[in-house]
Amino acid sequence: MKKNILDFEYQELIEEFERLGLEKYRVDQVLDWVYKKRIFKFENMTNLSKEHRKLLNEKFYIGTLKLLKMQISKIDSTTKFLWELSDGNTIESVALFHSGRVTACISTQVGCPVKCSFCATGQSGYVRNLRAGEIVAQILGIELHRKVKVGNVVYMGMGEPLLNFEETLKSVKMLNHKKMLNIGKRRITISTVGIPERIIELAERGFNVKLALSLHAATNTKRDEIIPLNRQYSIDELIYAVKKYQEITGDRVTIEYILIREFNDYPEDADKLAEILKGLNVFVNLIPVNPVNPNFYKPSRWALQRFKQILERHGIESEIRIEKGADIDAACGQLRRRNLKSR
Ligand code: SAH
Ligand code: SF4
Repeated sequence: MKKNILDFEYQELIEEFERLGLEKYRVDQVLDWVYKKRIFKFENMTNLSKEHRKLLNEKFYIGTLKLLKMQISKIDSTTKFLWELSDGNTIESVALFHSGRVTACISTQVGCPVKCSFCATGQSGYVRNLRAGEIVAQILGIELHRKVKVGNVVYMGMGEPLLNFEETLKSVKMLNHKKMLNIGKRRITISTVGIPERIIELAERGFNVKLALSLHAATNTKRDEIIPLNRQYSIDELIYAVKKYQEITGDRVTIEYILIREFNDYPEDADKLAEILKGLNVFVNLIPVNPVNPNFYKPSRWALQRFKQILERHGIESEIRIEKGADIDAACGQLRRRNLKSR
């Protein structure tokens, strides 16, 4: 069976090529075609001999994703992609444009097993983990179809990256590698709903990417209601893991907090949040909920400002995240869900 060349890290590829009797520098040539020139057919790699092209074609394929849909926001150019994987499953990615920079928001799973009640992906069920090559291919696809170079990556698309830990980490290495996508580690953010031992492991293994924790509530009672996994890992355990993470990395961590009207947008929620974050080096992203679930409403502008001010009073920096691509449902998971329904 042919192997997907996008599933291999640099060193692994060298070993694969050596086994076929191909020199090390051939790896660099092929990677240059794939990752820099975006040529996805071995027969077009003209600095390789005919025999080598044939051999590579027999052993490998280049697993790019099939574009099913691309929506471009008229407001801010935010672009949403729906891809088909080789087994027919679909995933989404989003490209965000700001001051000349392109940020890719990518998926790590088909659906998500965590099933948060506010999240379109969580509500659409879980199918499987993505392979590293399928994660990396999303960046290649964005670059190809929008003719841009992706500069920043956030693992905030569909799925929980730390539940697909090894493939996610492998994809980070490939995004970062100079001969591959060459994206700096400090320009890569992993967002997680919070698996304490994996957060600590991420720090211990020295990955040095940025971390965002999707907290969304300041008490276990409230967090249990919207994030079923909280019954397994409580807020205390998460905060402990972030503390450990910071002891090892010295990094500031982003706390994501979705605000839901008359659920977690009260002054006492802000006070409680400040209390549990005390002593940590954090930045809080306040996100008005995208009403995927009809029971959840966005907070009033007033409640949002009040929340931010209370955090400020406690010395916690925060920002209200402005909605991007509002006209194309840019929050991940929504396009796929609509597509599934209309089938
Ligand atoms: N599973 C990871 C990463 C994917 S979700 C995580 O939960 O962090 C990425 C971000 O999108 C999370 O912060 C998540 O809470 C947010 N999100 C999901 N549904 C949303 C909605 N309806 N409105 C606003 N943000 C949402
Ligand atoms: Fe999964 Fe994140 Fe959505 Fe929760 S918010 S269901 S963890 S993708």
